[in-house]
Amino acid sequence: MLPLRGFLECPDCHRMLTGSASRGRHGNYFHYYHCAGNCKCRFKAATVNEYFENELLNFQLTPGIADHFKAIVIDVFKSEREGGSNERLLLADQIDKQEKILSNARRRFMMEEIDAEDFKAIKTESTATLRVLEAKLSDLPSKGESLKTVEGLLDIVIQKYSDIQIHYRSASIIEKRKLIGSIYPKNLCYDGTGHRTPYLNTALELILQINRQLKGKKKGERYTNLHLSPLVARRGIELL
Ligand SMILES: [Zn+2]
Repeated sequence: MLPLRGFLECPDCHRMLTGSASRGRHGNYFHYYHCAGNCKCRFKAATVNEYFENELLNFQLTPGIADHFKAIVIDVFKSEREGGSNERLLLADQIDKQEKILSNARRRFMMEEIDAEDFKAIKTESTATLRVLEAKLSDLPSKGESLKTVEGLLDIVIQKYSDIQIHYRSASIIEKRKLIGSIYPKNLCYDGTGHRTPYLNTALELILQINRQLKGKKKGERYTNLHLSPLVARRGIELL
């Protein structure tokens, strides 16, 4: 009855809304979300629940859109991986060079071509550079992340969001709360007619953007040339 308790904040004082039931004239119960503070803010739970159930439709991945979502995320994944492998080669090359400099200095020191102080200076500098290069190398996307893994994870996301509203309606209260928490990482501020969300789960932002752009298209028009910012597209991966 009150799945949104703990997610809604008061539009007047920004305290969390709590929920409770009151008995109607005929003995039946009505549920409300209301402010725990002194303000008069109070919403019928049924109205707010329905509003957010309808909001879920914005994130629905219909089959055509799901394909598009998948294609965009995989595209970004591939291009990032390619960029990553060039960078990997470049770094490996630089590490190799530094190691050569160091071993060359060691050899010259043993041949007494340079003195201990010079060798120490070269060694300190080389070691510091090597440490930076190795840190950069380990920051690159992991090689083990295969395209297959990403595709598998995307299929799970797509399955979950293909009939999100039906899924939500039939879910237990615990599942409902889990879903709401994953869609909206921050508190929701519902004011009686609509809501403000300061922040949305990033993958869902991508779905939302695709859905919005497709809505503006005529029926039968192809899903090409969507103007999505690369940043938003990249965020589609962050969910994985
Ligand atoms: Zn309040």
